[in-house]
Amino acid sequence: MASLSVKSLSLTYPNGVRALDNVTLEIEDGEFLAVLGPSGCGKSSLLRLVAGLETPTSGSIATDGKDITALEPKDRDVAMVFQGLALYPHMTVRENMGFGLFARKTPAEETDRRVREAAATLGLAEHLHKRPRELSGGERQRVALGRALVRRPRIFLFDEPLSSLDAQLRQELREELARLHRLTRTTSIYVTHDQKEALSLGNRVAVFERGSVRQIGTPDAIYRDPCDLFVARFVGDPAINLVQGEFAADGGALTFRSPGLSFSLPAMRARTGRAILGLRPEAAVLGKGPDSGARGTVERVERLGGDTLIHVQTESGRHIVRAEPRGALPAPGEIVGLTLDPTRALFFEPGGARIRVD
Ligand code: ADP
Repeated sequence: MASLSVKSLSLTYPNGVRALDNVTLEIEDGEFLAVLGPSGCGKSSLLRLVAGLETPTSGSIATDGKDITALEPKDRDVAMVFQGLALYPHMTVRENMGFGLFARKTPAEETDRRVREAAATLGLAEHLHKRPRELSGGERQRVALGRALVRRPRIFLFDEPLSSLDAQLRQELREELARLHRLTRTTSIYVTHDQKEALSLGNRVAVFERGSVRQIGTPDAIYRDPCDLFVARFVGDPAINLVQGEFAADGGALTFRSPGLSFSLPAMRARTGRAILGLRPEAAVLGKGPDSGARGTVERVERLGGDTLIHVQTESGRHIVRAEPRGALPAPGEIVGLTLDPTRALFFEPGGARIRVD
């Protein structure tokens, strides 16, 4: 285990693509950091730099305060798990898992002991003699994890390891990864474009966009307190509801107005001008009153098992709100009121920066 410190790291590929732009991250010993962002934002490049597979254009990487920027990959004591990592088809599970140790000339007894331990942890003990083609997709991915686990690295790097699996298997292996981390407490960076995966696995989440860190924080902070419109839109399922409007000074309070929607906030700072209101689906509830914030027509009642989402078309745009767990559901076509919770309203500049009103 180790702390990892990435300072002002940049990488420009020979073709001129700037994959990382001045990235600074401090990852504590034992932490599980999820790196979340759209495809092409530089997530894999970050992992490859930490693993030593790429050389940074500028910046440095240190573990436990020791600069490792110039070390060869084999001297870094990090293990990387990729999506669809290929296993050697002609080798058994035991040989596949032990191969990395064998290549490092670890004594056979030690290799055997570590493989058996990792196999027990991963529920693979009965499969050690099998070849990859005799295993299910989930078992194969467990072997890939086992291969990294037996090395007992100081740092784990996961590059979308679950993205090629079906939904149920992903869920299962996600739990497995969380359990492994509780057990080993190995410092980990987990790269994904799947917000659910990032929020459920990370102690903290770093949201990337175009090679830069937009925000880093606990899953709760990323969801409830996004630093800008990009993070607010990228995180959240269903997506945050956005309303274009403007602020107006209204005595001691601050009022936000948009066609068909108006509500006052207990704000510390007076403000005027255009803004975007962001409301998570749980920041508005269906109400019957005429002055409940906004009115609209129910377009669709979307049932998702445990959750029901109500799509409401208002003058200011479409809102998706979560239905009360035991409340009566409206019918499509019904006119409803939306009661907005001002304490959960998020505001942004038209350019995307967060506006803090309290
Ligand atoms: P992500 O993992 O977030 O999808 P990557 O780190 O793979 O993003 O890529 C970041 C950017 O760098 C992308 O624009 C990608 O096309 C580019 N890129 C990645 N690898 C290379 C490479 N070896 N040579 C040139 N450009 C690359």
